[in-house]
Parts: sequence; C-alpha cells; structure tokens
Amino acid sequence: MKPRELDCPGYFLQFASDNSAGICPEALSAFNLANNGFAASYGNDDATHLVCDRLRELFEADAEVFFVFNGTAANSIALAALCQSYQAVICTDTAHVETDECGAPEFFSNGSKLLLAPHRHGKLTSAGVLEVITRRTDVHYPRPKVVTLTQSTEMGTLYQKGEISGIARIAQQHGLRVHMDGARFANAVAALNLTPADLTWRAGVDVLCFGGTKMGLPVGEAIVFFDRQLGEEFSFRCKQAGQLASKMRFLSAPWLAMLSHDHWLRHARHANAMAQRLAQKIAGIAGAEMLLPTEANGVFVNLPQEALTRLKAAGWDFYTFIGGGARFMCSWATREAAVDHLAADIERALGT
Ligand SMILES: *Cc1c(COP(=O)(O)O)cnc(C)c1O
Repeated sequence: MKPRELDCPGYFLQFASDNSAGICPEALSAFNLANNGFAASYGNDDATHLVCDRLRELFEADAEVFFVFNGTAANSIALAALCQSYQAVICTDTAHVETDECGAPEFFSNGSKLLLAPHRHGKLTSAGVLEVITRRTDVHYPRPKVVTLTQSTEMGTLYQKGEISGIARIAQQHGLRVHMDGARFANAVAALNLTPADLTWRAGVDVLCFGGTKMGLPVGEAIVFFDRQLGEEFSFRCKQAGQLASKMRFLSAPWLAMLSHDHWLRHARHANAMAQRLAQKIAGIAGAEMLLPTEANGVFVNLPQEALTRLKAAGWDFYTFIGGGARFMCSWATREAAVDHLAADIERALGT
C-alpha cells in the first residue's frame, strides 16, 4: 500500500507537524555562514542587530525585538510581561498556551490564570471575549488583563483582520492587552495576503510571538513588542527564564536569511498550497469528511478508526488528537508527490 520510508528519502510519510520538517536551505546556509570566527555574544553581534532592524522594517514599526529558543518560552514570558499574578489571560480551550505548554504561562507569570472563552473553529469571538471580561468584577475572581489569539489557529483557520481588530477593540475598551501566538504567523501572512503590520499592530495587537521553527529555522522564535514600553525590562525576563542565547548569532543569522528575498513567505505559501492540494483531493474521496476549513497549512479530516489504523500501519505519521479526526500538517518540505500519495492511501484505507 505504501513505499517504505527508506525508499523515499526526505519527509515522505511525515504529516505530524510542521516542526517535523528539517531546516530549509536558506536558513541552514546562513547558520553555516554565521560560523565564521568570533562574534560578540548575547545578541551584541551584527547579525542580531541587522535582523532586529529588518523586523522593524517588515512590521513598519519601531518595535522591540527579542529572540528565544521556542514557542512555549516566547508565549509564556511574553504573557508574564503583560500581567500581574492576580490577573488573567483569556484564550480558547484549544489554545497552545492552554493545552500544550505544561502550565508554563501560569508558571512564568507566578500564577496568572488562563480563562477559557468560547471559540469557533479555534477562533475567539469578540462577544465571547466580552462575556469573560464582564463576567465578574469582584475581588474573588482573577482580573482579565490579556487576550491571546493564535494566528493561524491550532485548528488550521485564520483570523481575518476585522476579527482581530474587533477583539482588540473590546480588549482596549476594558484595559486589556492583546497577545498573538504566531507560531504559524508566516502561514497566515502568506494566506491572507495582507502586510504583517495590518495583521498585528494596525489591528490592535500589542505583542507578537513570531514563530521561526515551524517555518523552517533550526530553532528560535522572535518576540515583537509593538509597544516598546511593554518590552522595557524584557531582556531581564529572557535571561532569568534561561532564554538568552549566548551564541545569539546562530538564532539570528538564519532569521535574517529567511526574511531576505521573502524566503519565509515563499516557504509558507508552499506549505499552504500543499494543504490546499490535500484538502481538494480529500474532498473528492467518498467517506472522508472535512472537519474544518483548510485556510493555512493544516488539513483536518474525519476518518473512521479503521481507516486511521490502516494509514498508521502504512507508515503515515499524523496526529489524531481531535476527536475522531486526523490532522495532516504541511511544511516547507512537504512534496506534491507525498500529498498525492497520501490522498490515494486515504482513499484506499476507506475502501472495503
Ligand atoms: C508549535 C506551537 C507553539 C510552540 O511550541 P514549542 O514546541 O514550544 O516551540 C506555540 N503555539 C502554537 C499554536 C504552536 O502550534
């Protein structure tokens, strides 16, 4: 039913996550080029200065920029910078900060509670956020101080610009800050065809955690504070959290390479296109039921347990953590041939 992985070099059977892909060529070559003798440490090197400027240019904003090792750290310490321990962060029950960070946001904020708001396809709604903000004002309940939204979402959907600014307006009216978990921000920018500024500070986002790993870097996420004041003492927080890289150039140089010539967008567009290709093929397969709209680089499909078991037995790697569904993630490294083969195997797995 399938070619063995060994017969298919690369990432042929791998649809578990965009972080199971390797390092894209531009980032890898920049990583190697950065290994050129000595350079100042802790972010005082040329590559780090350059990439911070490049990010300010890209976002058309005089932002404060920091680099950390992974997304959990980025989200957690960014949220900790936005609220006191007695304050709360509003998110969905599908949010990575809620389901996949082992309590790190609560830990780094010394106990700020996550308050869950209803969502549609992984997206908060302004009505839902408003309800949580106004639910209680007494001293016995934690005070909402931040709204965090994920772009693109954990369910493969996208917030439109108006949806972001609608939520941000409610937040601002009530003195809350807006944080964006952009582990897949590149996919969102590529799919929506709007500028990074339009999708962040112009829509009311105060802080963005801009994911590098899933878009093809070896390691590292950028934290972008559009309100410089919020990022004022953030370097101390990074250091205390063990997130200040001494050989920072190896985080920043690959970023710099990705941001030049729009490599980051090209790779994200490719990942999105592979997801579209898979979704279109699945739509034509009898018995396969799309669970969610495919708007970025993830495809969510409902398959009977028997079919899931067959696909796994055939060597395909994917997650099934959505009740009864399979999640197929595409990355910069996903090949058309792999998508076509997967679709054919899904059809076969559904056959009698
Ligand atoms: C992958 C991911 C992260 C970051 O996860 P790490 O494993 O800590 O790098 C954060 N948010 C979302 C939505 C993600 O998908």
